[in-house]
Amino acid sequence: MSEDRIPGFDTLAVHAGAQPDPTTGARATPIYQTSSFVFDDADHAASLFGLEAFGNIYTRIGNPTCAVLEERVAALEGGTAALAVASGHAAQHLVFYTIMDPGDEFIAARQLYGGSINQFGQSFKKSDWNVVWADADNIESFEKAVTPRTKAIFVESIANPGGRVTDIAAISQVARRAGVPLIVDNTLASPYLCNPFEHGADIIVHSATKFLGGHGNSIGGVIVDGGTFNWSREGRYPMLSKPNESYGGLIFHETFGNFAFAIACRMVGLRDYGPALSPFNAFLILTGIETLPLRMQKHCENALAISEFLDAHDKVAWVNYAGLPGDRHHNLAEKYCPRGAGAVLTFGLKGGYEAGLQLVSNVYLFSLLANIGDTRSLILHPASTTHRQLTEQQRSAAGAGSDVVRLSVGIEDKEDLIADLEAALESLP
Ligand SMILES: *Cc1c(COP(=O)(O)O)cnc(C)c1O
Repeated sequence: MSEDRIPGFDTLAVHAGAQPDPTTGARATPIYQTSSFVFDDADHAASLFGLEAFGNIYTRIGNPTCAVLEERVAALEGGTAALAVASGHAAQHLVFYTIMDPGDEFIAARQLYGGSINQFGQSFKKSDWNVVWADADNIESFEKAVTPRTKAIFVESIANPGGRVTDIAAISQVARRAGVPLIVDNTLASPYLCNPFEHGADIIVHSATKFLGGHGNSIGGVIVDGGTFNWSREGRYPMLSKPNESYGGLIFHETFGNFAFAIACRMVGLRDYGPALSPFNAFLILTGIETLPLRMQKHCENALAISEFLDAHDKVAWVNYAGLPGDRHHNLAEKYCPRGAGAVLTFGLKGGYEAGLQLVSNVYLFSLLANIGDTRSLILHPASTTHRQLTEQQRSAAGAGSDVVRLSVGIEDKEDLIADLEAALESLP
């Protein structure tokens, strides 16, 4: 790359953060499979622990393979810094740990990954972090939910499992007025399809398990700092704006400016809670990211063809895919995801719950499992699996009512995928 050119997305997907290994010349990023790193001398060790210098200490806090992944995702999202962690849920936990104090509230769209509904609604309660639900299709519901204890707003760019697109810019205006950061889970879109920072997000989280890794072979998560939020405002974010005793009174925001959030997540949250990403998983996710643009193009092309097929089928009651011109989120998809509406879609069977169970048992190429973002095509009946623990009302609100089938469309030949669904639909009464 010449120095004066700003590389495009596809180039960054292959190169950002990586260079030939200075010692061995290895071209692919090596897996630094080590728990710890030797210090130059005692002074070097002291400066690393005091955050006066950056460097490798111990793989729970950072690792060179993970660092390449962090730089790459930060570059693809246009953030100032990133932090790779053990899972998408670990990413969410560390983000809220850094933002929230007991008794605080955050507003989240109801249309979320089922696991996030549990994490926010149940587990976070033990820390007295209180979620207030809003409706992603009703901006006013976010506005109304703001109280003096609100510390953040959380939405998904493309929402799981409904295949719907969120008006990020409108919700970011609510966050601005409330003086809180907007956190966007960009898992379903990936940075190839949607760039939340351009639309006013302050923090992005990813389940790298899904499209970033893309091959269904490793669990991982990433936090990306947009560098946009003023953490020192009115002292509402003490982890960032007040002296930290474990670093001799250092103030994160004052010291690290527009990447303070990522540093605090790492040097406090990751250090103390410990959900570190293994360098081996970082290597697999990095390798996956190299083909993210190519995969997302094929994912979107296949998903559109399948949603058109389903939309015309007489056993199908409705299809939710924002890529379809008639879809209620199509305009939002054109604004936020101009290259395609992603690979996850839902549809309803006229035969309801029973038909859903039967359909997922009668496909061959589609795998019945609880994941998305694999090269392979995946199918799920959320009401009997991922959303089973929710009430019927919560399920419907999350787009996972009893007749709903979710697809994560892979990168196989679309003709084969359609033939598989066609045969399974024929077998329904
Ligand atoms: C899978 C998923 C998560 C959780 O990520 P894990 O890597 O499974 O912990 C969070 N948000 C969305 C949208 C997801 O699809």
